[in-house]
Amino acid sequence: MFSSWLEEKRQAFGYRLNLWFTVVLVLLSAILFLTAYLLLSGSVRAEDREVIRAQLEVYRAWYQDGGLSGLSDHFAQSQGSGKESFFVRIAGPENAGLFLSLPNQSDEFDLATLENIEFDKPFSWATLPAQNRRVNWLIATMHLPDGDWLQVGKTTEAQTALLAHFQLVFGWVVIIAILAGLAGGSWLTHRALAPIRQLIAGVQHVITTGKFDQRIPLRPANDELTQLARLFNQMLEKNSGLIRGMREALDNVAHDLRTPLARLRVTAENALQAPDDAVMFREALSDSLEESERVLTMLSTLMDISEAEVGLMKLERATVNLAELVSTVIELYQFVAEDKGIKVTMRVPEALTCSADPNRLRQVLVNLLDNALKYAPKGGAVELTAEARPREVVIQVKDNGMGIAPEELPRIWERLYRGDKSRTQRGLGLGLSLVKAVVEAHQGRAEVVSQAGGGSTFTVTLPANTSGESKGI
Ligand code: ADP
Repeated sequence: MFSSWLEEKRQAFGYRLNLWFTVVLVLLSAILFLTAYLLLSGSVRAEDREVIRAQLEVYRAWYQDGGLSGLSDHFAQSQGSGKESFFVRIAGPENAGLFLSLPNQSDEFDLATLENIEFDKPFSWATLPAQNRRVNWLIATMHLPDGDWLQVGKTTEAQTALLAHFQLVFGWVVIIAILAGLAGGSWLTHRALAPIRQLIAGVQHVITTGKFDQRIPLRPANDELTQLARLFNQMLEKNSGLIRGMREALDNVAHDLRTPLARLRVTAENALQAPDDAVMFREALSDSLEESERVLTMLSTLMDISEAEVGLMKLERATVNLAELVSTVIELYQFVAEDKGIKVTMRVPEALTCSADPNRLRQVLVNLLDNALKYAPKGGAVELTAEARPREVVIQVKDNGMGIAPEELPRIWERLYRGDKSRTQRGLGLGLSLVKAVVEAHQGRAEVVSQAGGGSTFTVTLPANTSGESKGI
């Protein structure tokens, strides 16, 4: 139980961050300690040498004034002045001891080790270990003009004590700094990682409940974590919109499929219950064919829209001559237009081309013209135009029909959406969704300008032809 908790903690990002933080803190403290220690011991050692040097000069002066006896006299007089804390020795040639004054201290050193000092330089320093090995003796040796050697020394006790004290104080400071760093670091990482924990909770909520209703609270600071939380909220918003749209589309599809399928069933049931009448059977079969045709068209259009929207629609791009394409589409609807007494006109420059899949572009124009004729009044007018703009080709289908109410305008591009006033007309509510999906698959735009009762103008903007060669449609 405890070990699994520990393992979980060990793997936590905050724990590792804190560990790194502490390692860096310890390393920095060690560097700081070493630097301070080296500086301090260097300066203490220099000070010791300075003191010994000054003392050496005093003894040298005494010795030069009165020789060995003068030096002994001075020592006898200065008993108790603190001078006895120095080791003083006069050595003749071959290191023979002529005078010796030993300080009254416990940390004595073995006089035999003086043998190790070589009298080869006019002035030299030597360090000899004291007998208890805790401290050292620092000894300066100077060649005197009469050929003898003057040696003055002092223990490094004060220096060692100071450095030991420094080590102790610094050790405590480091321990306290590490503990404070650990506590402060874990508090800081805990605080800094709060948005990440909220993000994890948000994701878990989405995974366990399947709902996109929760949002991550945003902090006032606009740092990277707040930006991440904001992006996550935007993603949730977008996803819930998409899912809502998908659900609505699915509901609509189910709803719209029910009617033709129910009709199909009723037709079949009626035919089965009717007396054996060949004419009636034929009529029932023809009705069933019509309904299944409607269902098939609906499903294949829905699949086309989905493919175009996700970029899976295969576009056989070619250079399309727009004048030819528009006149073919008008020809297709010639009888429908004549039937309603609608005058269809076109204004397209003969040489105007664009790069598109000719079949798909024809489908776009067919849908737009079909709508224009459907929603234009009897004896109305429909106009198809196309013109070149810099790097674009703009195609418009304009009618003087019933127009679209402002509140319906944003919805007409949705799958299966049909305007309230359009329900009396034939249609599946998929025409404009297909137009938009196909045009956008061509990297174009589909837009509308319309007013209720004031007619509508649908505009399709496509990238201009790049090759310049017209293959026709
Ligand atoms: P539908 O099969 O209903 O025509 P569309 O997707 O082609 O489906 O169009 C969606 C809705 O947009 C229509 O139901 C209608 O309300 C509106 N609409 C489309 N074209 C026109 C137009 N030319 N004039 C008026 N309303 C239109």
